[in-house]
Formats: sequence, C-alpha cells, structure tokens
Amino acid sequence: MQQSITGSTTKLPGIGTSIFAVMSGLANECGAINLSQGFPDFECPPHLVELVAKYLREGKNQYAPMPGLPALKEEIALKTQKLYGTSYDPDKEITITSGATEAIYAAITSVVKEDDEVLIFEPAYDSYVPSILLNRGKPRYVRLEPPHYKINWEEVKKEISYRTRAIILNSPHNPTGTVLSSEDIKQLEKLVSGTDIIIISDEVYEHIIFDKIAHHSICRYPSLAGRSFVIFSFGKTYHNTGWKMGYVLAPSGLMTEFRKVFQYLQYSSCTPFQYAFADFMKDEAHYLSLPDFYQNKRDLFAQAVEASRFQLVPCHGTYFQCLDYSAISDEPDRQFAEHLTREFKIASIPISVFYHEKIDNQILRFCFAKSEETLKKAGELLCKI
Ligand code: PMP
Ligand code: GLN
Repeated sequence: MQQSITGSTTKLPGIGTSIFAVMSGLANECGAINLSQGFPDFECPPHLVELVAKYLREGKNQYAPMPGLPALKEEIALKTQKLYGTSYDPDKEITITSGATEAIYAAITSVVKEDDEVLIFEPAYDSYVPSILLNRGKPRYVRLEPPHYKINWEEVKKEISYRTRAIILNSPHNPTGTVLSSEDIKQLEKLVSGTDIIIISDEVYEHIIFDKIAHHSICRYPSLAGRSFVIFSFGKTYHNTGWKMGYVLAPSGLMTEFRKVFQYLQYSSCTPFQYAFADFMKDEAHYLSLPDFYQNKRDLFAQAVEASRFQLVPCHGTYFQCLDYSAISDEPDRQFAEHLTREFKIASIPISVFYHEKIDNQILRFCFAKSEETLKKAGELLCKI
C-alpha cells in the first residue's frame, strides 16, 4: 500500500510505539540480555499451569460472566479483606479484566470527559497519558526528582483545581521503585477531602515491596477507597505477564460506570484462567513469599553491578532497578540504552521516555525479574562498561 490517511488524522500526535516493544525488539534483534521490558524469565507455578490445562480440557471455554467469574471475585474479596481490612462486594465492586492496562484505560474512560484534568506523577507508566488523551482529557504533570523521587505535595496542591477530575497514583512505582508512605497518604487525604476528585491507584506491584515496608494500598483507607479505582495484575503476582489478567476494585457507583465501558471494550476476560486463579489464589503462600523472593533478586543484581561504574538508585519495590550512568557517558539516555543493547548486548529502558518533556537524568531501568544466572551474566556485562 502506498498511501496512508492516518498520518493526518491521528488521535495521538506525538505518540509512537511503546518503548517496551521498541527495546524488546532491539534486544531480540541484537541477541542481547533483555532487562528492558518487565517480565520474568522463569516459569510461573507449575500447578497454576496444570489448573488452566484442566479447565481448558473440562470445557470452560465459553464467555465468563461479564464482570468476572463469581468464584474468583469471592477469592479477591477475601484476600482484600484479609490484607487490607476492607470489604468489597464481589457482585458490585470487583471486576476481572484482561490485565491492568485495560483496567486503567476503562477506569479513565469511565470518568474522564473532554477538558477534564488528570494529574499524574512523572516519570509515569507509559499507558496513562495516551489513555487520558484518547478521552480528550488533559494530563497535568507533577515531576518526581531523582534519586528519591518523592512526591512534593505543595506542588501537587498547586496543580489541583476545580477542573481536576482524577489523580493517578502508582505504588510501588514503575519505573523508580519508590513507594508511598503513610505521610503521603495523609497528605493525599487532606488534599482530596471535600472535592470530588477520583483516584486511580495502580497497585500492580502490591506484593513486590522490600525492606519490610508495608504496602499502603488505597483500599486500606476508607476516605480514599470510597473515591478510588484500585487496580491489580495477576501477571505480576503469578509470573505470567503474557496471560494478561487483572482486576479492579471500586465502590459500586464508580464500578457501574466502569462496567458500562468494560462491557464494550472486552465484555469478559479469559474463562479458563479465571477458574484457575480462583483455585490457586486460595493458597496465600505464593504471594506472601514474593517480597523476599524479589528482594533477593534486587540484592543479587545490586551485588552483581557493585564493581561497575553505574550508581544504584534506591529501590524499595517493583522488579526494576534504576542505574545512573553519568560517571560513564554524556550520551542521552535513549541513545545510551540503544548503544548498550547493540554493543554490550544488554537491554534496558531509558527513563526520559516516561516524562512528557523527555527529561534526561542519565538513568536507565533494568528489570531484575530474572534467574540468578541471567542476573550474574548481566552484572558481568555491566561491569565491562
Ligand atoms: N501498571 C504498571 C505500573 C505496570 O508496570 C504494568 C506492567 N506491566 C501495568 C500497569 C500493566 O499490567 P498488565 O500487564 O496486567 O496489563
Ligand atoms: N509493565 C512492563 C514494564 O514496565 C511492560 C508492559 C508492557 O510491555 N506494556 O516493563
């Protein structure tokens, strides 16, 4: 085909292909160790795979109920009550989605109207801004500064107005590895009290949190939970990002709006996976072991790069470690990440892509959800740079 009309009519000017697709593609092309896109290079629990196979064979192959399988929603309600002390009604306040990305898009679509402002913290996960723009909303940005990437609540206050429809939070935070503290929660409560601001809380790394820090889920705080979509991903918790399964919790009024969108976006999520998760979730041992499991990997990777010229940025959660390369090169981060992939055979993600102004602090993100062998090999490569 010679001509395309989409160039002049694009709904997302300035938005190209996701950096995750770009860097994973380059890693494959170059035969590099891929620490760019976030996914484990080890298997998910074998019993979980067996359960999916069992339900496939048993014929659980037709549409699930639109908002999700009742048994799975019940398990989610039990887990949420146990971990965060809040009860969500499985019928009206829990929906199973095909991954967190879809939940984020549907949540935004269900509440953001033209010219509504949505506040996000940068560096920000790459799906937030396009999801806001596709709904003709306006992103407002609060910048987090390295190395600690803490929220400056005075700045947040300045960005809030009667136009603010929603705030998107993400803790543990991708790509920086920071986590919200109880003080952050207090500030947030104060800020939204008396407003009708909605919170969209992306908590896909709820169990990947280190140094004995507690995850401050928005679910724990009734004054916030009552105005929030709280979003989770089975892919992160059960090492199967390719299954694209997740869920969202919200009070019934918000969930009614969410489902109006979801029913025409997806209708329902993959049936045999829902059956399998409903069974597998009963055993809490898997997710309770994740903080130690991933903390060991974080520490192993830190050790492996200790002798390098990279500087570690503090990481308290997620499976990403940021490294400052300013002692090595003056190259812009995107160029440097490509250079490392082509020449040194190790792929990472440049942090500047997560800022709308492409702020470059010479920091790269490395995924440590990898086997010990991969992490050691990666460390050796990084020490040569
Ligand atoms: N939010 C964040 C912060 C993420 O890192 C990811 C990564 N995958 C997602 C959402 C999307 O999750 P899913 O793969 O379940 O769509
Ligand atoms: N969340 C993953 C990351 O941050 C990637 C998700 C994706 O590829 N869209 O690397």
